[in-house]
Amino acid sequence: MGRKTIMILIFGLAYFLSAAASIALTRFGGGVALVWVASALLTARLHCAPTKQWPTLLLIAGFASFLATGWFGLGWFAAGPLAVINVFEAALVAMLFRREGWRGSYTGSSMAAFLVVACIIGPAATALPGAFVATLATDTPFFGNLTNWLIGHSLGMLTFAPVFLHWMRGSIESWIRIAMRRNQVLDFALLLLVIASTWATFSQFSYPLLFIPVLALVVFVHRTGYPGAALGTALVAVIGGILTARGLGPVALIHGSPVAATQIFQIYLAATELTLLPVAASLTAQRDVTAKLKQSEERYRLVTENVTDIVMSLDRAGRFTYVSPSIRNYVALSPEALVGSSALDLIDPDFHAIARERHGQMLRSHGIPVVFEYIGITGDGRCRWFETCGRATVDEHGIPNGVVGTIRETTGRKLLESELSAAARTDMLTRLLNRRAFFDEASKVVTSRVGGCIALLDIDHFKAVNDSHGQAAGDWVLRELATAALEAIRVGDTLARVGGEEFALLLPGASIEQAEAICQRVLDAIASLQIDWRHDKVSVTTSAGIAAIDGSVDTAMQNADRALYKAKNSGRARLSLAA
Ligand code: GH3
Ligand code: MG
Ligand code: MG
Repeated sequence: MGRKTIMILIFGLAYFLSAAASIALTRFGGGVALVWVASALLTARLHCAPTKQWPTLLLIAGFASFLATGWFGLGWFAAGPLAVINVFEAALVAMLFRREGWRGSYTGSSMAAFLVVACIIGPAATALPGAFVATLATDTPFFGNLTNWLIGHSLGMLTFAPVFLHWMRGSIESWIRIAMRRNQVLDFALLLLVIASTWATFSQFSYPLLFIPVLALVVFVHRTGYPGAALGTALVAVIGGILTARGLGPVALIHGSPVAATQIFQIYLAATELTLLPVAASLTAQRDVTAKLKQSEERYRLVTENVTDIVMSLDRAGRFTYVSPSIRNYVALSPEALVGSSALDLIDPDFHAIARERHGQMLRSHGIPVVFEYIGITGDGRCRWFETCGRATVDEHGIPNGVVGTIRETTGRKLLESELSAAARTDMLTRLLNRRAFFDEASKVVTSRVGGCIALLDIDHFKAVNDSHGQAAGDWVLRELATAALEAIRVGDTLARVGGEEFALLLPGASIEQAEAICQRVLDAIASLQIDWRHDKVSVTTSAGIAAIDGSVDTAMQNADRALYKAKNSGRARLSLAA
């Protein structure tokens, strides 16, 4: 015999025992049983089984119901119809569960679906025919049978369906396994407390202590969730049920009649289950959220601990609340040691004012990132640039409580930037400043009001050099000439190549006379050059025009240009002053 067959037979036996116990023990008036657990068992079994197994399960359950009713209850005449009605009830509920996509949770709409389908629709659909058959088979009042059926089936479903569902899904078993493995002594102690308090409550008459087991159950469920709710209710049902049936306990005290006692006990169990399910549901939801949070935190940690950028968070005062391990690439301190210290400690004092300013801006700017660059203080003492991009974090009231951001070293980028800007200012042939840079420098002299002169130099008959020696020779001459001119000027003077074979001299603070002297030195130095080119010697002369810096750079340049023109016209290889 296969395991599946054995399980089905065990189920059939369980159904038979549950039905037989209900019938034998709770038919006080001779009509229908007051407690009906069998439908909860069959519903749970169907819910957990593939649909193709349903016919077998329904047949087995129907047969068990038939035997139980025939032997212990209403006799063989009623056994057939009642078997059909009982089996139909569970099948209807299980089918509706499946159609509603009910997943066995007991929160919100899911709980409502469970209550409506299992505790209202199922019992309501079967109460009339059930009571009718019972009334026909016995001489009991129809209305009593009807209400007893409704109460018994509804409360039986409410109390026991969750218990069986969790049991069949293995969640009780897995809770016990996990609790044993992890040595959860407290869990078992609470389980014992549930058993003991139930026993104590239901084995005495003196005090109506029905709330005591509920208290123990709530604490137990708080730790264990759904499996605890299922197991706990089952224990209270079994222990309390046996003791109450023996006429013991506070329920038996309430009323002399066993009918009322049984129904009160059922209501007690159902109310207990209704109290526990939401506790278990919220605990499960909370565990899910915690697990997700942990997952996302682990993901976040993985990222922050592996990026080369430094990830950090600061409080409102600018003290580190977190720094990622990549800070070790820059400072000798551990990230943990930095927590609590001011971020300013890692910033060059020249940048403290801007850092404070930007920190305030981040806190004020509603989550919009703020970026700033500064020189950092690092372990190796080198001048290193950093860029921080940060934005405010807010507390649960939306009030900024700090800043999160990244720190990235930008030394390489800074270097590249300054290389690029130097390249943009340099003439590639002579390595002198270019025209644009010359105008910048001249503007600075104009704004600083130190005065001085500008001279424009143009090589004489340079075209002829190119023509007779070639373009490359011309380039070589330009370079040699630049070197010679540089040697002839003062420290602080600026020589630039402002055109093809035109140069400009910026002579800050120089009088016209001084400018004349410097310029003459330059012209002489150039004229005396004997530039080697292959097997030839090349020499050139230069003409120059000098103008005082007086007003704008443009005016001075125009004046110098006019003077240069004059020098050219008066025979070249000479200098001329602006009028
Ligand atoms: P002058 O100024 O005395 O009137 O005579 P010039 O021959 O120098 O006349 P112009 O200013 O008209 O010609 C400039 C020549 O300079 C034209 C061009 O062949 C040459 N030149 C300009 N830039 C370069 C350069 O980068 N390399 C070389 N090899 N030659 C250049
Ligand atoms: Mg020229
Ligand atoms: Mg020329």
